[in-house]
Amino acid sequence: MAKARGYAVLTPKAELVPFEFDRRALRPGDVEISITHAGICHSDIHQGREEWGQALFPMVPGHEIVGRVASVGASVSKFSPGQLVGVGVFIDSCRKCENCLAGLQQYCSEGMTGTYNTMERDGKSVAYGGYSNLIVVDENYVVNVPESLDIQGVAPLMCAGITLYSPLRHWETGPGKRVGIIGLGGLGHMGVKFAHAMGAHVTVFSHSDRKKPDALAMGADEFVANPSEEYFKKNGNSFDLILNTVSVDVNLELYLSLLRLNGTLVLIGLPGKPYQVPAGVLLNKRRRLAGSMIGGIPELQEMLNFCGEKQITSDVEVIEPSYINNAWERTVASDVKYRFVIDTTKF
Ligand code: NAP
Ligand code: ZN
Ligand code: ZN
Repeated sequence: MAKARGYAVLTPKAELVPFEFDRRALRPGDVEISITHAGICHSDIHQGREEWGQALFPMVPGHEIVGRVASVGASVSKFSPGQLVGVGVFIDSCRKCENCLAGLQQYCSEGMTGTYNTMERDGKSVAYGGYSNLIVVDENYVVNVPESLDIQGVAPLMCAGITLYSPLRHWETGPGKRVGIIGLGGLGHMGVKFAHAMGAHVTVFSHSDRKKPDALAMGADEFVANPSEEYFKKNGNSFDLILNTVSVDVNLELYLSLLRLNGTLVLIGLPGKPYQVPAGVLLNKRRRLAGSMIGGIPELQEMLNFCGEKQITSDVEVIEPSYINNAWERTVASDVKYRFVIDTTKF
């Protein structure tokens, strides 16, 4: 067993405080990782504040993890000490259902085992996440990070990155496709970078005009702040794919009306309340309303390789652990460019 240091939410909605805990002794297939950076995802806040229902406390959040292998178990074959690696939103799954076998572990029939806020598959230990200096994970749920990438901007790829990369690939984004990204936050800004790199025409929808220069610099072709009724009328039936990354409710009917025949609006942001959508806007032009959740291990590796090739990382603000509570507040206020990343070597 190894002693780990980190930050935890001790009771629902409480502020995060320093927290010490044990990581399990290495099993034969385990990799022990000295974490260097952990991203702050809005999902950490939703869970720490029980916005998605009952959660498990104490909670060490964090599922955007990057670091170096410190040691490996006896049967580990893919990793060796010193290697740069990442861990994302899940650390295990059943490994035998058709989705796991297809490399879509995030859709495991038994449910994936999250990186935190869940019991591990032994049913006894609580999974603690990446707001810490150390983690132990089975090698099958660890990915290799290209050394050519700027390490500070890598951690957010493990959730924000893959969550946008996966639907862009699934709905075959490429040259000639018109893609909309609603919300330029941690997830949204990765969507802009990926859709641009894949050759699509990219429009960002944002709830203020503050982020326009950044969006254009990231590769957006158009930026629309608070689209007007007029905009929706004029641009109806013109988008192939729209990805909604907003953490609060948006008017889906209006955005659905922007889709052309067979176009798809993908829900990615996860506000607490259900949406209401009139059937008419879906029937018309055979539009689809879909959802997408992170990505599986093979796709995570594919995305990291793509990032290595295209030199894509997240735009980050690196913080010390003592700033985590302020960072959560600023994330809720959309005051982050574009992901907070904790320097976990300072725990
Ligand atoms: P984030 O960095 O806080 O970004 C959310 C963006 O939503 C903001 O930057 C802002 O963009 C927009 N927004 C925020 N408050 C708003 C308001 N009051 N009115 C209108 N727009 C507002 O969050 P994130 O980490 O990217 O996560 C976004 C959502 O995705 C969260 O709900 C998170 O839980 C969820 N998520 C889903 C998955 C998945 O697998 N599907 C994975 C990770 C996260 P603008 O300023 O540009 O308007
Ligand atoms: Zn996340
Ligand atoms: Zn499974």
